[in-house]
Amino acid sequence: MNRDDFPILQERVYNCPLVYLDNAATAQKPKQVLDALQYAYTHFNANIHRGVHHLSQVATQHHEESRQAVADFLRARSSNEIVFTKGTTNALNMLAQSYGEAFVREGDEIVVTTMEHHSNIVPWQLLCHRKGAVLKVIPLNDNLTLDMQAFSAILSQKTKIVSVAHVSNVLGIINPIEDIIRIAHERGIPVCIDAAQSAPHLPIDVQHLDCDFLALSAHKIYGPTGLGVLYGKEEWLNQLPPAEGGGEMIEHVSFEKTTYNTLPYKFEAGTPDFIGSFAFAEALHYLQDTGWEKIVEHERELGKYAERRLASLPDVEIYAQGAAKAGVISFNVRGVHPYDVGVLLDRQGIAVRTGHHCAEPLINHLGIPGTIRASFGLYNDEGDIDRLLVALERAIGMLK
Ligand code: PLP
Repeated sequence: MNRDDFPILQERVYNCPLVYLDNAATAQKPKQVLDALQYAYTHFNANIHRGVHHLSQVATQHHEESRQAVADFLRARSSNEIVFTKGTTNALNMLAQSYGEAFVREGDEIVVTTMEHHSNIVPWQLLCHRKGAVLKVIPLNDNLTLDMQAFSAILSQKTKIVSVAHVSNVLGIINPIEDIIRIAHERGIPVCIDAAQSAPHLPIDVQHLDCDFLALSAHKIYGPTGLGVLYGKEEWLNQLPPAEGGGEMIEHVSFEKTTYNTLPYKFEAGTPDFIGSFAFAEALHYLQDTGWEKIVEHERELGKYAERRLASLPDVEIYAQGAAKAGVISFNVRGVHPYDVGVLLDRQGIAVRTGHHCAEPLINHLGIPGTIRASFGLYNDEGDIDRLLVALERAIGMLK
């Protein structure tokens, strides 16, 4: 992996070289992506789809090529299935709004898991409040994996959708989404995958998975911030009403009646982030050029190394130790608040995240105030883990 592609890694923090281990929150951008942003604003900034003039046509073409790049990245059947959103949160809100409007009635049930990010809880809760529906939660086993027996038992004729994280943003656990999708489909229930934490670390094939919907954020996959994707099978998206109204999503508007645009534009009200989509396509090309096999192998080995090194410290407790993980390790120092450790690591140039990581139900389940989360990107290496360990031992020495 070429760290030199990521200029920010040269920064110093409190006069220490930066060790960036907060990739689950957002990933750093290679210079190819930074250059693409500059290039787009410099050479073809013009609003898309509505212009006859040259720049507008160039911008439109780039935006649609980027949509195709996302479709290829997810192995989607068609770029009609790729809706650009502002991020995972926006995608899940749009889905809850739109799917809920069409398919959820009083007494129906929505299924999520105990380890969801708030963005895969609250939009469904809002829907439940609106419609008088009920949120059901898949519990966890003692080792913090999903209780799949309980999952099967929760499903019923009332279940209208299952929405689950592919990878937990707190634990890093890779959930058995193939099984979840298969079991739900046996009962005719659609499944939405929150791929915010998996898309940066694992190749995704929506046709092979057979998921009905999937959400992701560009900024976690080395792309620009403020952009995301809602993937939906064409047959589902065709059945859903628009989540938002405005320009672009319409075919004709009159005060008596408005008709809607075709897919995917029906779901893209207003000016989309056509500069961001161009840069995101660069990020996806960057991943492709690096190669999934290399990325997965590198991050798996790095994760194992980090877990082994952290486990060697007697005061450290690792959550879901030994489970199959992607990109994330959460831990605590016994008897010390995670925030205090985070502050002392920061002072040594180590960027980790502490707290509930927008997953309060999981943190409450663990009965702790929060965790210290180290999360990796493709540019991290064993040297970063070694520096984390040195800084952590120093912090523990000061706090205990
Ligand atoms: N879902 C998961 C699992 C996440 O980790 C995150 C962000 O950390 C989100 C959803 C929300 O992503 P965004 O804030 O980019 O919308």
